[in-house]
Amino acid sequence: MTQFPKIYIRRNKIDPVKRFHPWIFSGAIKSQEEGIKEGDTVEVYNETGEYLALGHYNANNIAVKLLAYEKVTDIESLFLNKFQQAYDLRTRLGLTQCAHTNCYRLINAEGDGLPGLIVDWYNGTAVIQVHSLGMYHQKETIVHCLQGVYGDRLLAVYDKSAGVMPKMGQNQYLLGEKSDNTVLENGHSFLIDWETGQKTGFFIDQRDNRALLSKYAHNKRVLNTFAYSGGFSVYAGAAGALRVDSVDSSASAIDLSKENIALNDQKDTAHSFYTEDVFEFLTHCAADYNLIILDPPAFAKNISARHSAVMAYKRINYQAIKKIEAGGMIFTFSCSQVVNIDLFRGAVMAAAIEARRPVRILAQLGQGPDHPASIYHPEGHYLKGLVLSVD
Ligand code: SAH
Repeated sequence: MTQFPKIYIRRNKIDPVKRFHPWIFSGAIKSQEEGIKEGDTVEVYNETGEYLALGHYNANNIAVKLLAYEKVTDIESLFLNKFQQAYDLRTRLGLTQCAHTNCYRLINAEGDGLPGLIVDWYNGTAVIQVHSLGMYHQKETIVHCLQGVYGDRLLAVYDKSAGVMPKMGQNQYLLGEKSDNTVLENGHSFLIDWETGQKTGFFIDQRDNRALLSKYAHNKRVLNTFAYSGGFSVYAGAAGALRVDSVDSSASAIDLSKENIALNDQKDTAHSFYTEDVFEFLTHCAADYNLIILDPPAFAKNISARHSAVMAYKRINYQAIKKIEAGGMIFTFSCSQVVNIDLFRGAVMAAAIEARRPVRILAQLGQGPDHPASIYHPEGHYLKGLVLSVD
């Protein structure tokens, strides 16, 4: 039976753990056994020795990320169980045997009870990204779990964790080798560059929002800002948009967008591409768009950057609201975990007030259901979106 080192937390800090919040902050720790190092798996107790949970120890503000609230003796079977549950959820969502979509998120960190781990499935290749040393130590277990869940369908496992934290090593194949990297999403083809692209290669969290956009894109002049690999552009073109302008500051992202447009049947749509800063582009671009997508990277990576992030959201939303034709629609997003929906909506409202135009909210959006968030962990709702109608 494995023995894990113990951490004791203060009496007045146990409520969040009892309510299944998956983080223990460093200030909550009363004492800990000697020799505990970053990345160790630890047991968490209250001051009187009652067992509370098991987690990975980190030497930062979030001192323990919790994996289980029951006693655990075998980490491998704990992980296997969680992988199986995650897979079963994706099956219930209609994603694991789907003719028109073969990429989805299998493990969404806290949302699947595995803080610090992301696994995206790309038609036979699982791309993993670990965000803690604790998960880094479990890489072998993670590969076993993937083999257990997928069997022969698993062709390769690519570890895309380099640079996420120090000590994460090189990006590399943990199993298999590079194979077909074209996937289908809602029947559209995408080339996924998991080796050199951003994150695990594709922003799968926007799948349902891209599908919603297709409902409104017919005959529209569309501006897709922060386009990356052209996800929204492909959907808009397939829906019969008149014109789609894709903007990204990264030349390789624009190259990927072009490839993805070419992979799909888009002959009725005039596509143009701009390798440019979006803030700049919006100051001089045409003012005849009637559908604009604003999907920037996380402007705030932590609390201290939150205020300037909110100002940046306000600025791009102001520019878009000011520019769009009357009757136009804006799909506007924030993926900053520390900017909650109220703050984001406030930033967009401030932009609308400044632009002095009537703006209505048609829908409030989030990440797709294969990116679940635990109800006990509101921080897990990192992607927020609004569909605006501007008159
Ligand atoms: N909407 C995309 C994902 C966007 S990711 C999708 O559905 O796949 C954010 C993108 O913004 C990245 O490609 C990054 O290169 C780009 N980016 C970041 N800052 C930028 C800026 N100031 N101007 C233009 N593009 C920017």
